[in-house]
Amino acid sequence: MSAYQLVWLRQDLRTFDHSALHHAMAAGPTLAVVILSPEQWHLHNDAPIKIDFYLRQLHALQLDLANLNVPLLVLRVELWHEIANALKHLCQTLPIANLYANREAGLNEISRDEWVTQSLKQLNIHSYFFEDRTLFALGSIRNKSLQPYQVFSAFKKQCYEKLSISLAPCYPTPQPQQVLNLSFDQSMLNIPSLTALGLNEISPQQQALWPVGEAAAFHRLDAFIADQVEYYDRERDYPHLNSTSQLSAYLNIGMLSIRSCVNALFREQYGNFDFVSTGQQVWLNELLWREFYQHILFDFPKVSKHQPFKDHTKGLIWRNAAQDLQAWQQGQTGIPIVDAGIRQMLATGWMHNRVRMIVAMFLSKNLLIDWRLGEAWFMQHLIDGDLAANNGGWQWCASTGTDAVSYFRVFNPVSQSEKFDPNGDYLRCWLPELAHLNAKEIHDPYAKNPQRKLDYPRPIVDLKHSRLRALEAFKAL
Ligand code: FAD
Repeated sequence: MSAYQLVWLRQDLRTFDHSALHHAMAAGPTLAVVILSPEQWHLHNDAPIKIDFYLRQLHALQLDLANLNVPLLVLRVELWHEIANALKHLCQTLPIANLYANREAGLNEISRDEWVTQSLKQLNIHSYFFEDRTLFALGSIRNKSLQPYQVFSAFKKQCYEKLSISLAPCYPTPQPQQVLNLSFDQSMLNIPSLTALGLNEISPQQQALWPVGEAAAFHRLDAFIADQVEYYDRERDYPHLNSTSQLSAYLNIGMLSIRSCVNALFREQYGNFDFVSTGQQVWLNELLWREFYQHILFDFPKVSKHQPFKDHTKGLIWRNAAQDLQAWQQGQTGIPIVDAGIRQMLATGWMHNRVRMIVAMFLSKNLLIDWRLGEAWFMQHLIDGDLAANNGGWQWCASTGTDAVSYFRVFNPVSQSEKFDPNGDYLRCWLPELAHLNAKEIHDPYAKNPQRKLDYPRPIVDLKHSRLRALEAFKAL
């Protein structure tokens, strides 16, 4: 009986530019497997909308792989520590020679892959892991003392140097292989529904915001590069303009590779690392923030363990304020830009980056509530929830992280709202109860007239006093 290559798909649900799939199929007849682990998702706070997106893409990918004559098998375990046995069992049932997968940066992911490698070794099966989720190999970006960078600007400089030598090329979609002469239990091809996994359905309106399929991901990327990237530097901070790519969910489950994004960005320059607009450069920098946080997650495993990056901030005394937390979680704080952001996330699974910063800083500074509670709430609701970027973003806002904002720079959410949503369009979209207010009133509706009657809460905190309270708490460290 011939032996097969097994490609294990995780956060890389695509066929184009897929390192592990490319190498597996180059080595011989290939099968693919994905392992669903609902209890682990729950422990990682994965949002139902993100899981739904993942399952919908699995259906699309199963068809794409079928066109390559690669069957996609679906296994189910509850927790990751069961994966090694599940794969071992599969490899005992089917004649598997080697396992191929793309590397991931988180601590649990690394342990999981080590267990699997050791366990399959007992069957004489070799496991190969490839760099794929990042532009540069994890652990490869080092300063002169061979230490990882903790400051983005220096990290970015080295990335620029590497990109100027070569933009990471993409692997083409593999050619179809011969139909496999292999019999296996056909029920292994079944992809469970969200309800079968114990989760509530996502509404068709929400699903329509996030179409699946690699073609849909490329359509979004190409449209952004053709029509918007040029203006990105000027427009990206204005949440009502919808001028960012909205590709984070696609990058996160690997429906689109990071190399595809960088190559599309320089397509007009025939692949040369040469900026023709500031927008182009600023967008690349955002992709490199993603890269930076992935490398931080890998180089500083404490980040995977809910630890602040800056050790001295462990002593910070956060407020235990359940009611305030609840108001923040539901978009009922009485600060319109904060509430609009939360409501955007609850309704669509996505929140604009500028608003994420305002919302996160309001929780961790004005409310002085532990950033980890906000981090978890974001993960539970974001379609693009990603440990590295979410943790990095939260620690930046809470001034506990790498290269974080200085603790004394506390955004005033009302001024931010006036600056980045000057006409109040974004606020009106998410806060219909304030839609009748004019552009002057809407950012702080009770400011001029505290007694006015509105179907909207009064601010749960005084912005000036709460800012000073946060400064005191940080100074006390
Ligand atoms: P664009 O502006 O088009 O940027 C292109 C891509 O670059 C994004 O898709 C994303 O992959 C990456 N990117 C952009 N900004 C950042 C950044 N600051 N950090 C890391 N990567 C970035 N991003 C996530 O992907 N998942 C998260 O869970 C997440 N949580 C966040 C939490 C907080 C508190 C903050 C402040 C930021 C968070 N971000 C997160 C980063 C950023 O807000 C989103 O990546 C961005 O809003 C996604 O929209 P876009 O695809 O239109 O981005």
